[in-house]
Amino acid sequence: MSVPADEPSNPAHAIFERFLRAGECREVLSCFGELCQHLGLQGSGLQLYHGLKAALNYWSAKALWSKLDKKAGHKDYDQGTACASTKCLVVGAGPCGLRAAIELVLLGARVVVVEKRDSFSRNNVLHLWPFTIHDLRALGAKKFYGRFCTGMLDHISIRQLQLILLKVALLLGVEVHINVQFKGLVPPAGKAGGHGGWRAVLQPSSSPLSHYEFDVLISAGGGKFVPEGFKRKETRGKLAIGITTNFINRHSRAEVEVAEISGVARIYNQKFFQNLYNKTGIDLENIVYYKDDTHYFVMTAKKQSLLKKGVILQDKADIESLLSPENVNRNALLSYAKEAANFSTNYHLPQLEFALNHRNLPDVDMFDFTCMTRSENAALVREHNGARLLLGLVGDCLVEPFWPLGTGVARGFLAAFDAAWMVRRWAAGTPPLEVLAERESIYQHLSQTSPDNTNKNISQYSIDPATRYPNINLQAIKASQVRDLYLMGMVE
Ligand code: FAD
Repeated sequence: MSVPADEPSNPAHAIFERFLRAGECREVLSCFGELCQHLGLQGSGLQLYHGLKAALNYWSAKALWSKLDKKAGHKDYDQGTACASTKCLVVGAGPCGLRAAIELVLLGARVVVVEKRDSFSRNNVLHLWPFTIHDLRALGAKKFYGRFCTGMLDHISIRQLQLILLKVALLLGVEVHINVQFKGLVPPAGKAGGHGGWRAVLQPSSSPLSHYEFDVLISAGGGKFVPEGFKRKETRGKLAIGITTNFINRHSRAEVEVAEISGVARIYNQKFFQNLYNKTGIDLENIVYYKDDTHYFVMTAKKQSLLKKGVILQDKADIESLLSPENVNRNALLSYAKEAANFSTNYHLPQLEFALNHRNLPDVDMFDFTCMTRSENAALVREHNGARLLLGLVGDCLVEPFWPLGTGVARGFLAAFDAAWMVRRWAAGTPPLEVLAERESIYQHLSQTSPDNTNKNISQYSIDPATRYPNINLQAIKASQVRDLYLMGMVE
């Protein structure tokens, strides 16, 4: 007789079901620790995965294992041996760090993720391209989050996405450490000094991970964090002030009936924006509304209307002072965001009540999108005392996305796959300059990618760039052109 999923009689199954449902980062980690302890499982990597699979051999778990097995069986991973002697450190447990970590562990590498925070608190909602939905389904997303992309939905909150990926990463044997901040690199001291490999300076310095030696560093620390050695390029466009806001979703009938707005660019719907302006004085370039765990809105507002509505107190030439907390009337900002949300949903969302952010304040934020940054290069190699370290960037720390376009996670996942492919080539003994040249050849395409110009056969996507980018020339950049990405000597 089968046992209902919500009351498993076997204690291990009960812990596993709690793990699947856990809705907070710390809860996920503690359930996972409890599960491994209960089953007497230690270690990491795919060996741990196989141990879990053998111990949790009941119907509900088996559906997940069959998905993960299918994924792990892809030829790119060489049955988990492609990177068997590679040791990776991933900085940041955002969606892109976790997604890269999953690929690296499937390749057979040892993968350690350090995350400076201990909670996933971002309500904001990310747009998902079809390939990311397909990819997350193949990782068993629905098993962890039943509402994942039901019907026509093509979005997910940042925190739910992190929760799904954290659970998959743990099951596959990625080691995830929260409350640990990466501060820099320690070069190898040489054989005489006892340390043969590269290590990290971590906060707290007492972390046992300070002794971990690795030969690959994947930096996924978000837009504000880029490791030393990488140069940033700024693209300054016309003034663009973004506002995001989240309201509580009670999933009432009235709420269910309100239509989403998946990108009303001004140019396409001048009448809507003119009406909004005439009626409310709010002047927007665009607005997006997604109904998810919250009612989420992101809009680009015109400066003059923010000044007129008293959101920005004084006009200032530089954007940093313009949007500094002293120059913003927070209550006026809340009203502005709520009025825009009400108007754009025809006042059909009843009693809009702000969701709270991690500081327990109404979840409304104003951001500058005038200046977007991207890294000039996607990877580099450092060599010291004969030990080489491959460094790769993924996610927002590689290219900062413009949120209303919702490209962040799709391009972030593409870069995570590209980084994993690079590590595979590195582990296969490909000369470092060739690895770097190939990575730069692929990176050239990233900012132009869209669902229309990437391969249509999304079920075939893998870390192999040829499955995703049509007619890609992996040798567009030559090894001789990337010599300055090979850095000899100490960390500056
Ligand atoms: P992130 O999601 O930013 O993750 C980086 C992680 O690295 C974080 O968890 C951070 O704590 C950790 N970290 C940073 N430095 C270190 C360090 N030195 N050591 C250890 N850990 C470190 N995109 C949209 O499309 N729409 C939105 O509305 C939207 N809202 C956002 C709101 C906020 C506050 C932020 C920061 C980003 C938002 N984004 C939004 C961007 C979106 O979250 C990213 O594009 C997407 O999550 C992929 O990012 P990532 O994994 O590269 O980086």
